[in-house]
Amino acid sequence: MSQTLQSVRGMNDILPDEAEFWELFEDTVRSWLKSYGYRPIRMPIVEPTPLFKRAIGEVTDIVEKEMYSFEDSLNGEQLTLRPEGTAGCVRAVIQHNLAAQQPRRLYYIGQMFRHERPQKGRYRQFHQVGVESFGFTGPDIDAEMILMGARLWADLGLDGIELQINSLGQPDERAQHRAALIAYFEERAELLDEDAKRRLYTNPLRILDTKNPAMQEMCAAAPKLIDYLGPESLAHFEGVQRVLRDAGVPFTINPRLVRGLDYYNLTVFEWVTDKLGAQGTVCAGGRYDGLVEQLGGKSTPACGFAMGVERLVALIRESGGEPAAPAPDVYLVHQGDDASRLAFRVAEGLRDQGIDVLLHCGGGSFKSQMKKADASGATFAVIIGDDEAATGEAQLKPLREGSGEQKKMKVDGLAEAIIGQLIDLEEEE
Ligand code: ATP
Ligand code: MG
Repeated sequence: MSQTLQSVRGMNDILPDEAEFWELFEDTVRSWLKSYGYRPIRMPIVEPTPLFKRAIGEVTDIVEKEMYSFEDSLNGEQLTLRPEGTAGCVRAVIQHNLAAQQPRRLYYIGQMFRHERPQKGRYRQFHQVGVESFGFTGPDIDAEMILMGARLWADLGLDGIELQINSLGQPDERAQHRAALIAYFEERAELLDEDAKRRLYTNPLRILDTKNPAMQEMCAAAPKLIDYLGPESLAHFEGVQRVLRDAGVPFTINPRLVRGLDYYNLTVFEWVTDKLGAQGTVCAGGRYDGLVEQLGGKSTPACGFAMGVERLVALIRESGGEPAAPAPDVYLVHQGDDASRLAFRVAEGLRDQGIDVLLHCGGGSFKSQMKKADASGATFAVIIGDDEAATGEAQLKPLREGSGEQKKMKVDGLAEAIIGQLIDLEEEE
């Protein structure tokens, strides 16, 4: 026997019970986005590798070691499965000149790929909801994007997700801080791990983002970027905080919040829970005013965030959220040639009236079909045998308490009878 094939490590199937949960989650997310004026955009999953190198930065975890990159065997082009959505979204905005006339609010939901060590809350294929805005300069949009998070957690029935914010200032302010940071780390070179040593002169800010416990204390005492911000950057940061305070959204300023991607400036933020172990960040983002120009577009201010769907779904489950498994209104039981032909017609006719029908497929006795009808959770069984078929009739059998008595009736009257009783049931609930 040949070996059975398995999914790729860290890339999961999402089975129907789970997938239904995901769809409910996505419904909530879509109506939430719509209520803030965001419109969908769908980008390819594969992009040219140089896009990510330029957007995310060469000296980042993602580009150094997490990308699934390959050569197109037909034309030799270097391609990568997207590790995040912002780069592709910016590329699309530039390519289609989307932000030229008016500011844009855009979102996407989809797979991302990173070659990481799989563990709870960290996968090689995972999903993000990405939200991006283009063409807004002021702190108002940053603040609104943060407020959006607070509303979504409420819509999803989640609490205890804490907000951390920071400001990364502008490139010249970062340059001054960077010099101070390098000097600080040079004096403590014996405490640096391999990653940190490698990044010392390329990307010292990222050393602060380390997960190495041995370096935490040293990083906590390192020079803080906020002390290097000029008046404009500080005013922007203050503007964001004012909206948050007005809205009553609590936050903490975390000076070590630097984000794993190079493109951010000014506001950065993360929403973090302590209920998911080490992988507690469920949403992260910030401003990235330089990226559009850096990727060849006309200078356009921008701001965005991404949420990890797996982590949020896990959190909803953790908090006891469980959607009811959807059941059909009708399970259609039929036996005999004439009965089966009529059953197809009846099923389509009921669906025309908006009734959900599970048509029994695969034959079998009435008894075994009725067992399946019960197990389906349907409100009614509609039963058609050749006797019924001969007279154009069917049995309507309620399967749940309170949905009435079994009746024989003309098939033309079924929809009305079913809808009437469904309405009665709904009123009782
Ligand atoms: P982390 O520090 O956890 O590695 P990150 O800074 O790499 O996160 P982002 O690139 O900001 O993450 O992605 C935004 C969100 O996407 C994260 O906050 C998280 O919820 C989710 N996410 C990132 N990587 C993964 C992954 N490998 N598996 C599942 N979710 C992920
Ligand atoms: Mg990461």
